[in-house]
Amino acid sequence: MLRWIDVLTFARYSNPEPPRRVELAEAEWARQLPPARFRVLRQQGTEPPYRNAYCRCYEPGLYACAGCGSRLFDSATKYHAISGWPSFTQPRAPNAIKYTCDDSLGMQRMEASCNVCDAHLGHVFPDGPAPSGLRYCINSASLVRIPAGQDP
Ligand SMILES: [Zn+2]
Repeated sequence: MLRWIDVLTFARYSNPEPPRRVELAEAEWARQLPPARFRVLRQQGTEPPYRNAYCRCYEPGLYACAGCGSRLFDSATKYHAISGWPSFTQPRAPNAIKYTCDDSLGMQRMEASCNVCDAHLGHVFPDGPAPSGLRYCINSASLVRIPAGQDP
């Protein structure tokens, strides 16, 4: 299980090795992705709280990257964080997420990206529930939900 110290270590020294890589030119991402997804995934956009697809969804299943399809989160780690965005306590695999210090907007935050295609997902904070203490605060537009039993 990842904890905040692991996230800090990844961001400071070296992110975990991804299982594979998907690298496309930004123009190709713009061609492939609907504008709302492109804005979040490739331009670090943030969707409005509560007015997004998976904020209140707790059905069993997996959440995949909307860019490359990598399985990022499991509904078993999704919880109600009262933030208005889907929130998880762990990634599905330790190497699913890439971590980068984000000093934009005058805040010190930890950016969470897809480790396979570098898509922006959201941020991770050290104020999640025990035992991990992590809160992955993720844009719904970054995710595609795969209902339980439908993962090929
Ligand atoms: Zn991806």
